[in-house]
Amino acid sequence: MYIVGSSGDAASSNGEGQQVKVKRAKQGHPRTTEWKREANKRRRMKGESYTGFAKSDSGLYKQSLTKEPRRLGPPCCCKKGKQGKVLKCSEFSEDVRSEVFRTFWSEMNWDQRKVFVASNVDKVMKQRTRTEEDTSRRGHSYVYHLKMEKFVSVFARKCFCQLYV
Ligand SMILES: [Zn+2]
Repeated sequence: MYIVGSSGDAASSNGEGQQVKVKRAKQGHPRTTEWKREANKRRRMKGESYTGFAKSDSGLYKQSLTKEPRRLGPPCCCKKGKQGKVLKCSEFSEDVRSEVFRTFWSEMNWDQRKVFVASNVDKVMKQRTRTEEDTSRRGHSYVYHLKMEKFVSVFARKCFCQLYV
């Protein structure tokens, strides 16, 4: 059993909130607005660029934020992954990484994604405590892996998240 340490790799990035472009909201025919909203929803689900909500000067949320399309994150650059003893994030080729990314964003809906991620992340109880400090922390950690045909590989959380941003 591989255990992902709770130190390091803590930062996750979701790739959102960058490249913010504010557009002026347009008044449209109600039907057009409804159609646009649906199209926008579809785009968001497919990982394409879409219009999100941004807080305006008056403090109200307006649909005026252009979100960039989802892009595959960079390959593993973590220390443990490079050593390759415990974490195997660098074992996946770019082909496999882009295939996982493509399937995830173009062939699954939100529910399927939830199931997919849940089936690849296991919560494990910590086996031992090394320091006093550790005892105050949560008593479990998460193991991130990719269960593909005959192949289970363990990822650092950061690298796992890079696959789906
Ligand atoms: Zn890694």
